[in-house]
Amino acid sequence: MKGYIKRKQAVEFREAAERAKLIVILTHTNPDGDAIGSVTALSSYLKSRGKACKVVVPNPFPKNLAFMDKGRKILINSRQKESVQAVFSEADLIIALDFNQLKRVDEVEAYIRNSSAAKILADHHPQPETSAFDLVISNTEVSSTSELIFWLIRTLEGGNIRNIPADCAQSLYVGMMTDTNNFANSVAAGTFKMSYELMEHGIDKETLQLKVFGGFSEGRMRLLGHSLLNKMKILNEFGAGYIILTKEDLENFGFSEGDTEGFVNMPLNINGITVSALFTEKDGHIRVSLRSANGFSVNKFSRKYFNGAGHERAAGGKLFIPVGEVGAYFEKCLALEQDSLSKAQDL
Ligand code: 5GP
Ligand code: MN
Repeated sequence: MKGYIKRKQAVEFREAAERAKLIVILTHTNPDGDAIGSVTALSSYLKSRGKACKVVVPNPFPKNLAFMDKGRKILINSRQKESVQAVFSEADLIIALDFNQLKRVDEVEAYIRNSSAAKILADHHPQPETSAFDLVISNTEVSSTSELIFWLIRTLEGGNIRNIPADCAQSLYVGMMTDTNNFANSVAAGTFKMSYELMEHGIDKETLQLKVFGGFSEGRMRLLGHSLLNKMKILNEFGAGYIILTKEDLENFGFSEGDTEGFVNMPLNINGITVSALFTEKDGHIRVSLRSANGFSVNKFSRKYFNGAGHERAAGGKLFIPVGEVGAYFEKCLALEQDSLSKAQDL
């Protein structure tokens, strides 16, 4: 974990924060646990050091993450456009977290590009789009952006986190816990060191676990059952599995944002399956979620066929075709990548 944060970057970060009168901290569309964890943690930390901060997200986030938004202060652009624009016009420092392409923030991209504020990006995805930022703190070896922010704060604090606020510690832990799918993926030695230090700090691990993974609705559990029983398709010849959820499926189970979180991992639990996909019908597009095991790069797969990107083993994107054509399109893409899929199956 030594070297996750370069000394010079920490110094530049500190100087930029010290100069700033109003800091906007933002994250990507469809914010997940790592997105909300990292923005609320950094905001809590900077506020405890006397800085004025506002947190902005492009659209709403799942209810089971709302406990991290103390006092419901997060501004949601799709609902509070005027307030968000006002904050951007006043801010003199913008800190972007947990995304590598500016298109990941939809309309907020224009607010960033049109602002004369200093701009910082901190993220753990490969190939970050760096040109819009004055300082980029990027590392793909950490489990999550929340972990990256942990190491940044720890460096700023001179090597220990004793004096960070309790809700900052809590958000850092939750962000890491969700992005690793509860310690299943992308966990390195440093992730355990971070967890150890956060537990020593006093986070209540059991309660956080229950809040995040035990806060689902009945409809969500039944939608999962329906997805596995009626919608999951397994293609043994490609070592692939996928689920397509139409608007009708979602409506039938009283869908709310975040309900399908984790579904995409399910086919990977089947012996011989090394790539899985979840397609969800949205207004005007199909949301794509991809996962892999054994070295098949879904980051490349998504860039090539699904207008997206991500990590090697977890990526996402969008399709602009009717939901009825998605299955055939996906199977065609698999056939085109047969060689790399076979290699992954042999591993
Ligand atoms: P998820 O499947 O959980 O939505 O996303 C998995 C990973 O892929 C996340 O790290 C996320 O940042 C990335 N990702 C998801 N959707 C997109 C997208 O549309 N564009 C890009 N560039 N990355 C995405
Ligand atoms: Mn993340």
